[in-house]
Amino acid sequence: MYVYDLRFQFKKEITDDADYLFYGYLCSLSGNNQIIFETMNISGTDRNRIVRVTVPYVDSLDEENNDKRVNDSLEKLLPYLSEPIAIEPVGEDSTYKDDFATGKEAESYVLCIHPNLRDFSPIRCGHCRGNIPYYLLPPLSKETIKELTSWETSYAAYDRLFYATGIGEISAHKMLSNMSSRLNQKGLSVCRLLEKELGKPVYYYLYRFYGKQPAKCPLCGGEWKLQEHSLFDYKCDKCRIVADCTVNE
Ligand SMILES: [Zn+2]
Ligand SMILES: [Zn+2]
Repeated sequence: MYVYDLRFQFKKEITDDADYLFYGYLCSLSGNNQIIFETMNISGTDRNRIVRVTVPYVDSLDEENNDKRVNDSLEKLLPYLSEPIAIEPVGEDSTYKDDFATGKEAESYVLCIHPNLRDFSPIRCGHCRGNIPYYLLPPLSKETIKELTSWETSYAAYDRLFYATGIGEISAHKMLSNMSSRLNQKGLSVCRLLEKELGKPVYYYLYRFYGKQPAKCPLCGGEWKLQEHSLFDYKCDKCRIVADCTVNE
C-alpha cells in the first residue's frame, strides 16, 4: 500500500457544483479500488483541495487503470481546475499490505469480504487469499455489480451484528454460518454470476465462529476436509465452497 497526496487547484472559489464533481471523482476512484475510501483525508482552502489517499499498489493511480466511470467523472471535473491534478508520493503504508493480491496467479477466486475495508473488492485470489482490487479484474456488468453489492451490503450488516456481540449475535451467526441461509444462498448465486464474467471458478467462503464445521460438505454431503497447511481447511470443488476450521476444531 502506498500513500499519495492528490492536489486539486480550482480556477475560482469552490462552488457546490464543483464540490459535487470533486467528490464524484473520488467516489469513482474508490469504486474502482484505485484508492481506499476508508483511509481518505481531505483538507484545503476555498480554492484548493489536498486529498491524502492510500492505494493498493504503487501504480494504482495510473490512468491506464481508470475505468469508464473514473474517466467520465474526471472529464466533468477538469473544466473547474486551473491545472492538472498533482499526484505526489508520500510513502509506504504496510497496514493491510498482505491483504491484497494482483490476482495474476489466480486459477480461481473466492467471494469473501475484507473484514475492515468494506468498500474494497470482496473477490479474493484463490491462490493466496488476497483481495483483488476491482481495477485488476475483468470489468463486471451493471447487473452483476448490482447483485454483488446487494449481497455484500446484507453480509456486512450481519457481520457487524455478529461482531457487536449483543442482541442479534446468535441469529446473525446462524445466517452467516448456515449454508442454506438466504444470505449464503444469495452469495452462491452471485458466485455463479461472477464466474461467467471473470472466466474462472468462484468459490463461496462459508464463515463459522462457534461450533465446528460440518464433517461433510453442507451442500452435497461429499468429502470436503483438506490436508493440513492447505490454503483453506475445507473445500468442495463440486459445490464450489470453501471454509476454515473454527477455534473449536
Ligand atoms: Zn494471489
Ligand atoms: Zn459439495
